[in-house]
Amino acid sequence: MKCWPSRAVTAWVSRVGITPFIFAGIPTRVLFGDGKLAATKPEAARLGMKRPLVITGRQQSGLGRDIAANLGTIHFDGARMHTPTDVTDQAMKLGGGQGIDGTIAIGGGSAIGLGKAVAFRTGLPQIAVPTTFAGSEMTDILGETSAGGKTTRRGASIQPETVIYDPQLLASLPQGLAATSGMNSMAHAVEALYAVDGNPIVSLLAEEGIRALATALPRGEPARAEALYGAWLCGTVLGSVAMALHHKLCHLLGGTFDLPHSETHAVILPHATAYNAPAANGAMVRIAKALDAGTAAQGLFDLAKSLGTPLSLQELGMSEEGLDKVADMAVAHPYPNPRPLDRIAIRQLLDNAFHGRRPS
Ligand code: NAD
Repeated sequence: MKCWPSRAVTAWVSRVGITPFIFAGIPTRVLFGDGKLAATKPEAARLGMKRPLVITGRQQSGLGRDIAANLGTIHFDGARMHTPTDVTDQAMKLGGGQGIDGTIAIGGGSAIGLGKAVAFRTGLPQIAVPTTFAGSEMTDILGETSAGGKTTRRGASIQPETVIYDPQLLASLPQGLAATSGMNSMAHAVEALYAVDGNPIVSLLAEEGIRALATALPRGEPARAEALYGAWLCGTVLGSVAMALHHKLCHLLGGTFDLPHSETHAVILPHATAYNAPAANGAMVRIAKALDAGTAAQGLFDLAKSLGTPLSLQELGMSEEGLDKVADMAVAHPYPNPRPLDRIAIRQLLDNAFHGRRPS
């Protein structure tokens, strides 16, 4: 029987200092640039779409209506946060009656989530046009909510075939939302740098994604293109490797206490990073370098503070009594994390995040 790694591979690894890895490529076609929204029509044709369903939330309704009119097709503007299945039912009902042959989702993670949900149910191709930095467009992950709670699934049909990044669409994003959405995006890259299934390509993308966002976010609207470039990289790594404690905590906090998505990520990120720092030195060095900071955790906290994002769970309206429950849930089922899951230390992490203390 052959053992893995073989002696030859082990010798090679010790010589070049790289641990074995799998890199599966990036399946999505990406168009990036000012004015690229205009490419929606030829891209739809390229995917064989004649009557796609254009999907937006209420706030982007006007944009969706214009695009649907330009394509001679229909528009659904009911996308909501966390992809409720009853909203997907409504979109399916509208689309099914009209013989749709694809989806074009324009908006943040909420609109893109609905595009994915329709594609998952129908197997139809999708185009995603993101207008925040959330990163969902680059993943094969779909989180849906219904009365029974939240279900997360992965699958090839969930991954958009084409993503169109047009920085001009982000000009209207308020600076506060851009800042929290950008911190949310960086969280994907931070966890990718210590992912159990990480690889050198993903680490390069993650480090560059953090650098681009950290440089661009403080410069506001004039630097939206660079921030969106960073968000593309961070979304790519989110779709490529396993996330860990930070994403677990945000998922629990959001799902259990209905806390806002990107704000929760912005608050937790420095503290989850501090928790993992002793067990992920290589990742911490790269994060700190990308942030041009002394330590990764302090660099993230200081960036969030300078951007004016919420720094504490308290500010998000969470009650302190809930912290024990989250700590219990965070250690209830094992998952890969560089530092072992320790109930007392995680409870302390949550306490620090609740009060918004700067990591030491
Ligand atoms: P969102 O899509 O709800 O958008 C937040 C708000 O910003 C909305 O009110 C929206 O109308 C507004 N907005 C969006 N773009 C704008 C623009 N350019 N100008 C002005 N306003 C704009 O929130 P989000 O943070 O983008 O996404 C969060 C959702 O995405 C959550 O449901 C989360 O679970 C999901 N998500 C999924 C994945 C995945 O891989 N499945 C990854 C990240 C996020």
